[in-house]
Amino acid sequence: MGKRHKKTHMLCPRCGKRSFHVQKKRCAACAYPEQKMRGGYRWSIKANRRKAPGTGRMKHLRHMPRRFKNGFREGTTPPARKKSQAK
Ligand SMILES: [Zn+2]
Repeated sequence: MGKRHKKTHMLCPRCGKRSFHVQKKRCAACAYPEQKMRGGYRWSIKANRRKAPGTGRMKHLRHMPRRFKNGFREGTTPPARKKSQAK
């Protein structure tokens, strides 16, 4: 098969996969440098599952349940807790 010394894809600056086409300057996995992320297709449900919400750090979304519980208050101190009476 010959010596294969050249590569077509490099590491993508956005998604980190080795899918950034060197000559086309486009990522095959996330469509970088396009603004919108590449969505994925129905014929690859498993691949969609692997990058669904919850598979990463969830930097923003993981705090939402707690913030929702407190009514999204910001910049205030939480109301003082009442000590529970002896049962
Ligand atoms: Zn990418």
